[in-house]
Parts: sequence; structure tokens; C-alpha cells
Amino acid sequence: MALVGSHGRRVPSFPVIVMLMGPPGSGKGTQAARIAARYAVPHISTGDALRAAVKAETPLGQQVADTLASGRLVGDELITDLVRERLSAPDAAAGCVLDGFPRTPAQAAALDTIVDPAALIVALLVAPDDEIVRRLASRRVCDHCAITQSVSDDEDPDRHGCPYCGGNLVRRSDDHPETVRRRLATYASLATPLIDFYRGRPTFGTIDGLQNPTRVTAALCAHIDRIKTSAFRAED
Ligand code: AMP
Repeated sequence: MALVGSHGRRVPSFPVIVMLMGPPGSGKGTQAARIAARYAVPHISTGDALRAAVKAETPLGQQVADTLASGRLVGDELITDLVRERLSAPDAAAGCVLDGFPRTPAQAAALDTIVDPAALIVALLVAPDDEIVRRLASRRVCDHCAITQSVSDDEDPDRHGCPYCGGNLVRRSDDHPETVRRRLATYASLATPLIDFYRGRPTFGTIDGLQNPTRVTAALCAHIDRIKTSAFRAED
């Protein structure tokens, strides 16, 4: 699919549908926001959408509140309907960055019926568990402006306030090392079948999540641009 621009040149209309995968603490949320801005497509986080629904006490929010509070997954059909509806909005016509969906092979199979599987660019951020535990153990969130900071091992975070607003830097309850290890185990059990689902596709790529965030963004863009270019060539 290609359009002819007003200047007579062919311009690609291939949508950028990026599906980001990665363990908690791999920088997935940050990268999803950057990639969405870079390609001017919406960042669709199913977790954020559900939390917003719970906060606004919509019928959907009331339906999923207990499930979210317990940390379990909501049903495949419910979440797939939510994503199908969101993807039909005009702002998602040129693509999107999916963050937190799909999470199960059933959701992945459903996604293939909503978007063209060839247009789905899958990127897996890879980071070893020990490094994630170390990273999250040093993560602090300001209780006033909510900015996330990293404190070094030899620093006493309680002695330093937020450098931006002076608020208290606190550790999120789910960033404690034992909790992080549990979250990582849960992630692995869900992610493994999903990775198996996508691994054989030409649009699947792995990115080293341990690099500094700017390099991770560059590697993600290189992966996306490579797929876009080959899709565009295939249309010619
Ligand atoms: P997240 O912020 O992505 O960790 O999502 C927060 C919560 O929303 C999860 O613990 C689930 O209860 C729910 N959720 C988000 N995305 C999905 C999904 N794709 N499938 C099922 N439940 C989801």
C-alpha cells in the first residue's frame, strides 16, 4: 500500500504498529513513549487505560477494579475488545505503540485479526534478572512531583530530597527485591509463550535493554526503520 503525495512522489502509507515487550524495569514504558513521539503515533498502554477507567469509575473500571488490585490479568476477550475499539480511533490509523498488549498467545492471535500481521513490528527489550533487581532497588519516586530517580548504592536516599521539587524520594512497594523477583517470574511465565509466538517472524527483533536509554531508543528506531523500508520496497 502506497500513496502518491501532492508533489508526485510516492510516500509510504505503511502503518507503524510497534509492539514492545520486556520485563518490568527494562525501560519499556519510557521507550514506548519515545517511539510514539518519534513516529507521531499514539502510545497505547492497556494498563494505563484500565487504571484510568478504575479511577473514573466507569462501568469498565468497576468491572476490572478487583482484578487490577489483585495483580491478576483481566480476561482476554475484554482486553481484546478494548484494544480493537482503541485501534479503530482515527488517531491510530497511521499506527501505534502497544504497551502491555498482547500478554497471552490468545490475545496475540486476536491481534493478528485486528491488524495486518506483516505490519506488526515486535521488539523485545532484553535485560538479565539480576540487573533489573539492582536497577529497581535503586529506583525512587518523588512523592510530590512523581519524577523517577535512581540513587546509588552508597547514597542514603532519605537524606536527599527530590532535586526538582524537594519532595520525599520513596521506594515503590513493588520495587523491593523480593517483590521484583516475583514479578520477574510472573513475567517470564507469561512472556515465554508469547515470545515463541512471535520469534519466527521477520518483524521480530531483540534489543539490549542494558544500554543507556538513548542507545536503546536508537536501536529500536533502527529495527522499526529496517522493517518499514523492507515493507515499502515489497510494495514497489
Ligand atoms: P500494566 O500497567 O501493564 O502492568 O497493567 C496493569 C494491570 O492491568 C495488569 O496487572 C492487569 O490486571 C491489567 N492488564 C493490562 N494489560 C493487560 C492485558 N493485555 N491482559 C490482561 N490484563 C491486562
